Amino acid sequence: MDLATIPLIDQHAHNILQPEVAAQYPYAAAFTESYYPEIIHHHAHHTLFYRRSLRDIAALLNCEAEETTILARRESLGLEALTQIYFQAANLEAIYLDDGLQPETILPLSWHERFISVRRILRLEQLAEQLISQSPDFATFLDRFNSEIDPPPSGVVAFKSIACYRSGLHIQPVTPEVAATHFEQLKQFSTQPLRLTDKPLIDFLLQQALLVAAKYRLPVQLHTGYGDPDLDLRFANPLYLRHLLESPQYRHAPIVLLHASYPYMQEAGYLASVYPQVYVDFGLAIPFLSISGMREAIRQLLELTPTTKLMYASDAHSIPELYYLGAKWGRQLLKEVLEQAVIDSDITIAEAEAIAIAILRENALSLYQSVH
Ligand SMILES: [Zn+2]
Repeated sequence: MDLATIPLIDQHAHNILQPEVAAQYPYAAAFTESYYPEIIHHHAHHTLFYRRSLRDIAALLNCEAEETTILARRESLGLEALTQIYFQAANLEAIYLDDGLQPETILPLSWHERFISVRRILRLEQLAEQLISQSPDFATFLDRFNSEIDPPPSGVVAFKSIACYRSGLHIQPVTPEVAATHFEQLKQFSTQPLRLTDKPLIDFLLQQALLVAAKYRLPVQLHTGYGDPDLDLRFANPLYLRHLLESPQYRHAPIVLLHASYPYMQEAGYLASVYPQVYVDFGLAIPFLSISGMREAIRQLLELTPTTKLMYASDAHSIPELYYLGAKWGRQLLKEVLEQAVIDSDITIAEAEAIAIAILRENALSLYQSVH
């Protein structure tokens, strides 16, 4: 099986950093989820992911696999040429970008559109933070929030929530009265810039957005599983979503569990196998894990997940390398897992080929198609 010729839809990634901002961080900072200086300076260079990636990058840039040599080569090529090289080597057809991650430091969507077809993912908590600061009272805020998302702005193919980071996936029903009280408290005590961490308010707003998503059949991407230490990994288990998944009013809102829910792959696969609205991707787990870890993540997801519900993503951010590394290892390990399934006699080789195309592009195209 050769998956290199299948153009990818990367259904969840982030914008590349402005070069001036990227220059302030060590290169290895883009290869770790930690923001602690000790990790970034002393330990991030020593993961299996980083060691492997230096060789992958050097092979593509045609230089020695040493960080200093790679940095010099990057410098001489410049960000635009580098991006061109990596996007082309990744054989990407389109990327869907959540532009709500540190919005003041990233290059705009239009910059990426010079290289590739781009769609936008709207981050709900970031929108809420902007509007809370600008709104004198809860009624005004809620009105503005709803009118920003209903109808979804043109070019937006999905909503995204980082409730997992801010307060965990154990989302509970919240009445507008309770949400209003928490809004008032937040207005009174918050410092600028406002950072939304209030659980009842986050839960309330996500459920408002799910009603809109259900109305338009717009997918909602949820951060699940591991990430930076701002989240409590215990509450990143997608099994906590039971209340949302069981609520009939949200049933028509497709929910995409991001990041293979790592390390909760089997839990994510189970949810995708029983709830019609649940989909899963394997971004972040690929390319961040070791090779055997990545293989295991895809393998565990496929224990139960229908192959119509699993999607490729890189969760790439900050530097163009990550889009390529995700693509390279996503294709390679999907191929290995499917070939093993053929040997095991789960599927035929013809089925394996069709499944690969579905996971790398067609499932995303059909899920997001209705909103294009
Ligand atoms: Zn992401």
